Amino acid sequence: MALILLMALLMLGVGLLFWLPKYRLQRAIARPFPRRYAKILRKNVPVYARMPADLQLQLKHLIQQFLHQKKFVGCDGLTITDEIKLTIAGKACLLLLNRVTLVYPALSFVLVYPTAFVVRHAEVAAGGLVTHRNQVLLGESWSDDRVILAWDHVRRSNAENDPGHDVVLHEFAHQLDSESGSTNGAPYLMSKARYARWSSIFSEEFALLQEAAQHHSLSVIDHYGATNPAEFFAVATEAFFEKSVALGQEHPVLFNALKEYYCVDPREWR
Ligand SMILES: [Zn+2]
Repeated sequence: MALILLMALLMLGVGLLFWLPKYRLQRAIARPFPRRYAKILRKNVPVYARMPADLQLQLKHLIQQFLHQKKFVGCDGLTITDEIKLTIAGKACLLLLNRVTLVYPALSFVLVYPTAFVVRHAEVAAGGLVTHRNQVLLGESWSDDRVILAWDHVRRSNAENDPGHDVVLHEFAHQLDSESGSTNGAPYLMSKARYARWSSIFSEEFALLQEAAQHHSLSVIDHYGATNPAEFFAVATEAFFEKSVALGQEHPVLFNALKEYYCVDPREWR
């Protein structure tokens, strides 16, 4: 009898362990979206105001989930405010609209610096010699659990001020890229056939961008994308959301591949 009771208690405990986080999340999503949050979105994520009501509602739910699950950490004395949280979560969640996906499952922390920050990277030369190099960055995405951002740049960068350059879209595209197991320019695509199609389209477009960068030719996709396939996907994502008409006209095949992946057409939000 005691054993049965113990088993029942154990099962109840395990059940609660699984049920409680889900219950808390559902409660967080069900809370009314504060008006001051919507005001911040209209100011710092201007595309929000131009979206249809169903996407606005989806975005608000995704933001609530993001805010519930991720911890924001202010660095170098920065105090985390609602404006910082809403601006970053709002832009990051644009990449998840209409998609059957979790909200950046590997991500636990968003570290925010007031301005550009310095990171120290180790580099291993061919002979095995390790050197360290300081790099000034506006953003960085780690595949394990964090994204690091410079707040002054996040606040300034949007499609209105500097189209095609948005450090939040960029770093969160890297997060999606790493969900496939390696950060190589191909996010999780569900089928072998889709990977093959993606690889063929992106390899060709990457080569075109490398050529444009070598010849200093104008391109709707920033030349930084020619660095490697992972940067190409991140930079193409920025162009897809912020220079959608030009990208659709000049790179229709790439645009359609991104449209199929992101499940939205930002040309409709102008
Ligand atoms: Zn990058």
